[in-house]
Amino acid sequence: MERAAAEWRYQQLHEKRAYHDGTFEKWSDDRSADFPYAANDGVTIWVSDVDLSPHDHFLGGKRDCPVCSGGGAVDDVQDDRSEDES
Ligand SMILES: [Zn+2]
Repeated sequence: MERAAAEWRYQQLHEKRAYHDGTFEKWSDDRSADFPYAANDGVTIWVSDVDLSPHDHFLGGKRDCPVCSGGGAVDDVQDDRSEDES
């Protein structure tokens, strides 16, 4: 059930960024010679008891992360939730 929710979230994140250049860094809405890879190509989503990449903040939380927020300077970190909380 958690894996299904994660797959849905990944699809949601890539509705507007459906194709990439092979690096997962540059994305495009349209498939082309420069962006030949679909978001799901080579991707396997699974559930783990351990967060293997804790600072990707896949589900949010960057603002509250003591590492990514600069050691407690939470107000200095901008993410998509900052507008809601100010
Ligand atoms: Zn972090």
